[in-house]
Amino acid sequence: MNKIRKWSWLVIAVTVFSLILATGCGGAGITAQPGGKTPAAASAGAPVTVKVLDVGQGDAILIRTKDQVVLIDTGDVPARDKLVSMLKSQGISTIDKLIITHPHADHIGGAAALFEHFSVKQVYDSGQKTTSNLYKQYLTQIQKRNIPFSVVTAGTTIELGNEAALNVLAPEQPFIGGSEPDLNNNSIVAKLVYGNFSMMLTGDAEQESEERMLKKGAANLKSTLLKSGHHGSKTSSSVPFLQAVSPEAALISLGANNDYHHPHPSTLKKYNEKKIKVYRTDTDGTLTVTTDGKTYAIAKER
Ligand SMILES: [Zn+2]
Repeated sequence: MNKIRKWSWLVIAVTVFSLILATGCGGAGITAQPGGKTPAAASAGAPVTVKVLDVGQGDAILIRTKDQVVLIDTGDVPARDKLVSMLKSQGISTIDKLIITHPHADHIGGAAALFEHFSVKQVYDSGQKTTSNLYKQYLTQIQKRNIPFSVVTAGTTIELGNEAALNVLAPEQPFIGGSEPDLNNNSIVAKLVYGNFSMMLTGDAEQESEERMLKKGAANLKSTLLKSGHHGSKTSSSVPFLQAVSPEAALISLGANNDYHHPHPSTLKKYNEKKIKVYRTDTDGTLTVTTDGKTYAIAKER
């Protein structure tokens, strides 16, 4: 490639990138700088992407750092083929870390298909057990395939390479609910931290879990973005929790016309009052957050 052509391509690339930012595409938090340069383009930080995958009613969140592929939850059974094809279309064959926030079907339903189609290097879960067949199959597969498995609790840090990490904020022992633990409220809650960027990933944690985390230290909860707890249910996103997290945007993972009537209008009202921008997989499709640790952009699939 000669010099002139090389420069033309550079100009085109910078222009296209600036246009994407200027036209929005759900972009937030990044402002174009004079001369067409953006903070992201100027940074040497390798990008980290977080995809809140459109798996219908359920959660599946793909985090990619320079070094690792991490999946938090696997969606529900009906979406498992879609999950597998979405991951394969990203060129993924190995999942370095699989994190199961809690063993409800809409979080664990795709696990068996994942084990079948990908090399899963490590599984983390909350240590909560249930009697469902899905949960039994999940455990059987982990044992059969000899996959390293650990239970994580508040205080654990899961390193994602390239200075990105998940700081686990919940659950804590004893589990909420005592002898009959409440699966949602003992979800793994983790804050993804990469430079100045952070994202609160809540599983289906509800108000009781939010209260526990607040008691331990509200300052730890401040995050750039929030993955809404429990699909935008009214039992999550309590006002004190939202005040502490104080996100610029909330990303809700849910299916269109779901049986649970998620998200709850009162949750959306709270977000609106706090000027928290809302993104949702039922209308926007897969949501892709890209960050260099300084700034970020959110792109919608549709
Ligand atoms: Zn759920």
